[in-house]
Amino acid sequence: MGDDWRELDIANPTQEHSMLREMVRDFVREEVEPQALEHDKHEKFNIELFRKLGEYGLLGISVPEKYGGAGMDATAVAIVNEELSYSDPAFCLAYLAHAQLMVNNLAQNGSEEQKFRILPKVCSGEWIGCMAMSEPGYGTDVLGMQTSAVQKEDGNWLINGNKMWITNGAIDDQGTPADIVWLYARTGEDDKGRAQITTFLIEKGMDGYAVGQKIYDKSGMRASNTAELVFDNCLVPPENVVGNPGGSMTHMMRNLEIERIGLAAMALGIARRSLSAMNKYASEREAFGHQIRDFGQIQRHIGESWAEYRAIRAYVYDTAASTNLGLAGNRLDSDGVKLFATTAAKNISDRAIQVMGGYGYVGEYVVERLWRDSKLLEIGGGTLESHQKNITRDLVKNHDAIER
Ligand SMILES: Cc1cc2nc3c(=O)[nH]c(=O)nc-3n(C[C@H](O)[C@H](O)[C@H](O)COP(=O)(O)OP(=O)(O)OC[C@H]3O[C@@H](n4cnc5c(N)ncnc54)[C@H](O)[C@@H]3O)c2cc1C
Repeated sequence: MGDDWRELDIANPTQEHSMLREMVRDFVREEVEPQALEHDKHEKFNIELFRKLGEYGLLGISVPEKYGGAGMDATAVAIVNEELSYSDPAFCLAYLAHAQLMVNNLAQNGSEEQKFRILPKVCSGEWIGCMAMSEPGYGTDVLGMQTSAVQKEDGNWLINGNKMWITNGAIDDQGTPADIVWLYARTGEDDKGRAQITTFLIEKGMDGYAVGQKIYDKSGMRASNTAELVFDNCLVPPENVVGNPGGSMTHMMRNLEIERIGLAAMALGIARRSLSAMNKYASEREAFGHQIRDFGQIQRHIGESWAEYRAIRAYVYDTAASTNLGLAGNRLDSDGVKLFATTAAKNISDRAIQVMGGYGYVGEYVVERLWRDSKLLEIGGGTLESHQKNITRDLVKNHDAIER
């Protein structure tokens, strides 16, 4: 065996991936970074910049080219999320809600008719999408969801219920709803009493679909909109049902895997930026006649952050490389990497503030925003506790994963 494999950079495994990273990095430097602080401060979603992601082919990153996408893989998804989150995790969260939670889900699970009808619009940025799973009373306990759909005799469906915490659920402060919602609703129960879940594609303008409220005053992720959605006798035609009624559990679970890898990649971007900021600052700042990097306690902050950053990077790209977007089966690592990366990123951004003292606590120096944004990653897309539960369950069935 030759030694070529030693040269593989798992974060940039092909030239296409490297070029993608370079392109996104340039875009972030020129367009994302200059607006991040202001949009966080004013809790504003930058819709114009968001649509530009479509021009760069990023909104349909994982969608086959025949539907208007870039046809790339989970590693590409991680690259884009890492680079955007280096500068603006909230903007990236809006991107993730659209590109991974709605668009990728449709690309993997929709019918040909649905894909040709909808994907070109969401890949270009003409339409903004979201995914609605959580409810005011049910988050982790997702199968408890109460939003229900009943099919009428004429074949149309009537949907009733509320969805909560929906990223991109409102696209502005006037309560304009997303153009398309990937909505999960209860359509029955199996013989063990568990909810049967069906996916509906809800389009702006459908009767009975509205924004309940935009949620203000979030701790972090303030430049992404979060909203409550209301479905009040919302009438949906049968062509907007995805797959077989009652059969959405599989694609819900499958898409959660890429969501979790995407969120872990966001943590990676936060970790890299925070480490970069603290490392530079530790050389610039002097105290007691020394650079502060000469102090052992500062060295602990930097040393531990480097080691954790490297571990996140390896785990994110290793998990992405072994993820096939069309298949479920990587829950152990998609939960594992999100569990590890999100808390590590939060700790690294916290250390960055500590190293930077008073300056670190001020918006202009970026890391306090990353610290606030990082906390959401421990909650959204599955809480830390849900990952611990899933991993422990999966290791019962798959003990060999430890020994191989
Ligand atoms: C900014 C933001 C954006 C979001 N975007 C979206 C979105 O786009 N779409 C969407 O559908 N949802 C979204 N969410 C919702 C998010 O996924 C939920 O908040 C999350 O799943 C947790 O649900 P919950 O808030 O209802 O908390 P709960 O599920 O009520 O959990 C409360 C606490 O109890 C713990 N807990 C619950 N069950 C167990 C258990 N069995 N064992 C141990 N501990 C348990 C939890 O871990 C947590 O610590 C978003 C949330 C936020 C804050």
